[in-house]
Amino acid sequence: MNIFITGAAGFLGSHLCDRFIKEGHSVVGMDNFVTGSPDNLAHLAGNPAFTFYKHDISNYIFVPQKVDAVLHFASPASPNPKSPSGYFNLPIQTMKAGALGTHNTLGLAKANGARYLLASTSEIYGDPTEHPQKESYCGNVDTIGTRAVYDEAKRFAEALTMAYYRTHHVDTRIARIFNTYGPRMDLNDGRALPNLLNQALMGKSLTVYGNGKQTRSFCYVDDLIDGIYRLLLSDEHYPVNIGNAEEITILDFAQTIQSITKNKAEIIFLPDDRSERDPQRRQPDITRAREILGWEPKIELKDGIQKTIPYFKSKLGLV
Ligand code: UDP
Repeated sequence: MNIFITGAAGFLGSHLCDRFIKEGHSVVGMDNFVTGSPDNLAHLAGNPAFTFYKHDISNYIFVPQKVDAVLHFASPASPNPKSPSGYFNLPIQTMKAGALGTHNTLGLAKANGARYLLASTSEIYGDPTEHPQKESYCGNVDTIGTRAVYDEAKRFAEALTMAYYRTHHVDTRIARIFNTYGPRMDLNDGRALPNLLNQALMGKSLTVYGNGKQTRSFCYVDDLIDGIYRLLLSDEHYPVNIGNAEEITILDFAQTIQSITKNKAEIIFLPDDRSERDPQRRQPDITRAREILGWEPKIELKDGIQKTIPYFKSKLGLV
């Protein structure tokens, strides 16, 4: 197949390019480098199975090649207000990527008779009142909060994807992606793993926001990519949660990073800015992924962190 991937220079997008090329497909990648980095694709330069176009997908997308599958992964994704690449600081670009970018990529899939996969998110559940989150849960999202630019864009994107499925019979899929980590994450995007691992490797104090009792469930990138790959090859049109079901408090997560890196510095607690509506609990129910895709994560958190450390060390100039 010829696979078209938006957000190809991003964390997940670049790993998807690698996976599809490894499986013998050709890949056309697109990115405008607002949050993605050319470094993530440098190893594919000169590879005949890979073509790249720099373009903002919120504008009409022209791809000269015929494409068999479209994967829409372009969007800022970090909720950190201090990060320049986070969606707090790119609110309009985020809404355009989720709304106009989804419209353009669906149009491209329709014109090519291609299958389509939308990268949606656990953020569509907002600060969930149901736990763990099943795909049938409709979410608890503040439409005007600062997280809304991401959450509502992705909710719109899901609705538009279903409209193209129902109206134009585009062969669509929706992946609801939970917290994911691994090599090629943006070290400075302010999210929990890059922040804490960065701090630990530099021998600094670890910053935990609030009391650290809020939870997340972290999936190693190779597991996540395998789930996406299987979903694209499946015939499932309704949303599927893809993530690791092992829930951990952020304080335990910070302590795990401390012990793996043997960092002796303390953990400091910083104020939790509730105006940003930091979700208090997050854990995917992955029953549908298990049943429909025969998929579940294989990599334990400690092993995944170990696998991520060499990338962080090289980026930090520690090797
Ligand atoms: N967090 C933290 N310290 C940090 C960065 C993040 O305690 O240095 C917390 C953050 O408040 C949230 C959790 O870690 O509760 C996960 O945040 P992240 O930014 O990774 O993504 P989210 O899951 O909120 O989209």
